[in-house]
Amino acid sequence: MFFDTLQAFLDDEENGDIPYFWSHLKNLRMKLPFILAKRFVAGESFEKSVGKAQYLNAKDLKLTLDLLGENVKDRKEADATVEAYIDLLKGINTHELVSSISIKLTMMGLDIDRDYCRDNLFKLLDVAQKHDQFVRIDMEGSDYTQVTIDIFKEAFAKYGKHVGIVIQAMLHRTKDDINELAEMGADVRLVKGAYKEPADIAIQSMPKIRVAFKEYAKVLLEKTAFPRFGTHDDELINWLRDYAGQNAIDKKSFEIQMLYGLREKTMVDLTQLGYCTRVYVPFGTDWFPYFSRRLMERKENVFFVLTAMFKK
Ligand SMILES: Cc1cc2nc3c(=O)[nH]c(=O)nc-3n(C[C@H](O)[C@H](O)[C@H](O)COP(=O)(O)OP(=O)(O)OC[C@H]3O[C@@H](n4cnc5c(N)ncnc54)[C@H](O)[C@@H]3O)c2cc1C
Repeated sequence: MFFDTLQAFLDDEENGDIPYFWSHLKNLRMKLPFILAKRFVAGESFEKSVGKAQYLNAKDLKLTLDLLGENVKDRKEADATVEAYIDLLKGINTHELVSSISIKLTMMGLDIDRDYCRDNLFKLLDVAQKHDQFVRIDMEGSDYTQVTIDIFKEAFAKYGKHVGIVIQAMLHRTKDDINELAEMGADVRLVKGAYKEPADIAIQSMPKIRVAFKEYAKVLLEKTAFPRFGTHDDELINWLRDYAGQNAIDKKSFEIQMLYGLREKTMVDLTQLGYCTRVYVPFGTDWFPYFSRRLMERKENVFFVLTAMFKK
């Protein structure tokens, strides 16, 4: 059944049918083996991902480890997630990995109660602060943008350099958010945005998203100490490099981030050229939503999945 769905997807010339493919994949969700995801996901547990993390660190690539999952609905599960994140911080120390972590507020109980979620985040940040580690709050769909920024601001006031946020260039509201966060001196990862959003909320065309990304990147480069840019897009990466060069911005004063399984050689090349780089390394059993976002982004990613399936 997976292969029928895949064939229909590959036969279609338009990327517009990715949602169709995804809706079929979603129906198969419970039956999908991890081998499908292994191109984009380091392992189903931290222990199983450590080897990949060490391999990337050995290439001088810094990491962001991410325990996959989203939208936890009960407190028991949210409490367990907080403990798992704390264990992750400890595991990074034990294995001496050069890695921060990324978290999702919906995994820490945001759908249950806002203040409970904030308290959970603070519990995690207490540990991060104690061991001089860094936690980035990933940005989720637009229903969560405002509350994520609000909770981030509270966390930033208390934990400063130990916490950061993600901002999505595609959202119309970002033109205001970016200035406010930059003025605060927040540690921001700028990305295009991975969630499908309607036209009244988000820019729909890729060229316009790129224009917005560049404008926001300029704000971050001008006003913040160490902005991060999460993209695999050569147009944006080359623009960043040119812009930095033309404006006497040190290559060591910003970071280029990419996702695990994509463009590793480019990351190594950029590192060797003196740029700061970081790979986002997701792991965990709840890999399906992350996996499907990667497939929806680019048709080529489906071929990557197939290649990974037939590789040892
Ligand atoms: C480190 C990191 C963290 C992220 N965190 C978040 C988050 O918290 N919230 C969120 O909403 N989104 C997040 N994203 C996802 C992001 O929003 C985009 O959905 C995703 O990065 C795809 O956009 P892109 O700019 O990378 O390239 P795309 O828009 O997918 O592709 C644009 C062009 O880039 C080139 N390209 C892309 N991929 C490849 C490749 N593998 N090989 C060669 N060329 C390629 C191609 O020319 C392509 O046409 C994150 C992304 C990264 C890298």
